[in-house]
Amino acid sequence: MDLLVVGSGFFGLTIAERAANAGKKVVVIDRRDHIGGNAYSEAEPETGIEVHRYGAHLFHTSNETVWEYVNRFTEFTSYVHKVYSNFKGEVYPLPINLGTINQFFRSAYSPSEARELIAKQAEEFDTKSAQNLEEKGISLIGRPLYEAFIKDYTSKQWQTPTTELPAEVISRLPVRYNYDNRYFSDTHEGLPVNGYTAWLENMADHPNIEVRLNTDFFDESQPLNKAAVVGKVPVVYTGPVDRYFDYAEGELGWRTLDFEQQVLPVGDFQGTSVMNYAGADVPYTRIHEFRHFHPERDYPTDKTVIMHEYSRFATREDEPYYPVNTPEDRERLLKYRELTEQEPKVLFGGRLGTYQYLDMHMAIGSALSMWNNKLEGTI
Ligand code: FAD
Ligand code: UDP
Repeated sequence: MDLLVVGSGFFGLTIAERAANAGKKVVVIDRRDHIGGNAYSEAEPETGIEVHRYGAHLFHTSNETVWEYVNRFTEFTSYVHKVYSNFKGEVYPLPINLGTINQFFRSAYSPSEARELIAKQAEEFDTKSAQNLEEKGISLIGRPLYEAFIKDYTSKQWQTPTTELPAEVISRLPVRYNYDNRYFSDTHEGLPVNGYTAWLENMADHPNIEVRLNTDFFDESQPLNKAAVVGKVPVVYTGPVDRYFDYAEGELGWRTLDFEQQVLPVGDFQGTSVMNYAGADVPYTRIHEFRHFHPERDYPTDKTVIMHEYSRFATREDEPYYPVNTPEDRERLLKYRELTEQEPKVLFGGRLGTYQYLDMHMAIGSALSMWNNKLEGTI
C-alpha cells in the first residue's frame, strides 16, 4: 500500500483515483457500510425513486477543471435547481428575486425601483463591514424580507443567534433584481444520469484501489488503525479533525440533520423538489420530493417519496453535517490546525477534516489541488 485514504466521500475518492491513476496502490477505508460519504444515494425499494440518504445533493460548478474531471465518471442531466419558500401559507420563489419582492410587497416594481426600495430598507447596515449573518442579511435584502425569509429559517437551521453566525453563510444565496429564480448561478449544473452512487463507484473502480467498508480508523481491532499506520504509511484523513486528536482542544460545533422519509400514495405531493418553510411555527426546515430531481425517469405515477428535514446540534454520536463556526469554534480550529501540521505523513482534507463548508465541486477541486501540490511525486 502506497497510500491510505480515510473516508470514501468525494474528497477521499478523488485522492484515491488520482493516486491509482499514477500507479500507486491505495486502500480506502470507511466506517459506514457504503461508499460515497454524504453524497450517497439509493433507490427507495417500493418506488425505485432515487433518494439521497444524507439530504438532497445538487451538483453545480463554474470550475472548468472540476467539470472536465467529473465528466470522466458520469454524464449529467439538464436539471436546473429551483427552490420555493412557504411563508405564512403563501409560496414565494427563492432565492430572493424580483418575483419574490413584487409578491411580498404586492407591487409591480421594475428592477431599478426594486433596487431603490431594498437599498432604503437595507441602509442600517453596510454589506462590506457586516459583522455577522444578521447584519449581512439585512444589508443585502432589507429588514422586512430578512425577517420573513431568513431570520426564523436560519434560527431553525442553526439554533444559534443569527448575530453569532458568520456573514459568509448567507453570501451563498444570491439576490437578483430580475425574475431569474435559478438557485445556483454556476456555469455548469445537473444531476448524475445514473445516480450519485454509480458516479462514486466509477471513481473507485480501478485495479489499484481497494475499498474496505465498516472499517473505522480509530478501531484498534482492525489492522489499518491510527496507532498502527500513522508515520509508516502516507495517510489522507477526511474524518472530523477534532475526533482525530481525541477532542484535545475541545469539540468543534457541528449541526446534524434528522430526516423523516415517507412514501405517499400520490403522484405529486408538492409540484417541486424542495419547499422551504420560513416560519418558526413549522418545526422542519424543508420538504424534499425526490421524483422531481429526475423528471426524465420513468417513475411510478401513483406514488412519491418525500423527506422532511429537521436541523439540530450534533452530539458525538450524530453525523456531523455543517460546521457551526462560532468565534470559539474558529479559535479551536486554529489550535487543531497547528496539531495537524505536526502529524507525520498525514494530510487532512474534505469537509470534516478541515472543518469547512464545502460543496461537492469544492471538495473535488480541493482534493485535486492536494494531489497536485502535496502528493504527486512524493508518495
Ligand atoms: P464526506 O462525504 O462527509 O465523506 C467523509 C467520509 O469519511 C464519510 O463517508 C465518513 O463515513 C468517513 N469517515 C469519517 N470518520 C471516519 C473514520 N473514523 N474511519 C473511517 N471513515 C471515516 N454539496 C453540493 O455540491 N451540493 C449540494 O446540494 C449539497 N448538499 C448537501 C446537503 C447535506 C445535508 C450535506 C451534509 C452536504 C451537502 N453537500 C452538498 C456537500 C457534500 O456532501 C460534500 O461536499 C461532500 O460530501 C464532501 O465530501 P467529503 O469527502 O469531504 O466528506
Ligand atoms: N437561507 C434562509 N432561508 C431560506 C434558504 C436559505 O435563511 O429559505 C439561509 C440559511 O441561513 C442557510 C443559507 O441561507 O443556511 C444557505 O442556504 P442553502 O440553501 O445553501 O443551505 P443548505 O442547502 O446548505 O442547507
